Amino acid sequence: MFFFFTCGTHTFTSRLAGAENLTVQCQNCGNFSGHVYKRWEWFTFCFVPLIPFSLKPYKEVGCHICNFYQDIKYRPDVQQQMGLGGGPPAQQGPGYAMGPPGQGQGQGQYK
Ligand SMILES: [Zn+2]
Repeated sequence: MFFFFTCGTHTFTSRLAGAENLTVQCQNCGNFSGHVYKRWEWFTFCFVPLIPFSLKPYKEVGCHICNFYQDIKYRPDVQQQMGLGGGPPAQQGPGYAMGPPGQGQGQGQYK
């Protein structure tokens, strides 16, 4: 950070709305310590944010244990938990759409 010209960058970081209570696994250290953050970097002049570095805030999964941040686009599992996946949930429950039980490859059903 350079303060000689009283300009620099400011990063707005906050919990992403709707995902405040979400706790996900960190892919770096493996702990369930990840939270979903919204991060938006701005160029500042005289400490006033003037120009955003990007059009939209980044959505990231951050881990407070190992300080690892990862763009949420690499975490489809997190997007699914937030309801943004666009596809149906991967796990529909056990055994549905498998046909009725007891038919087919039975184990020793000869009599
Ligand atoms: Zn971690």
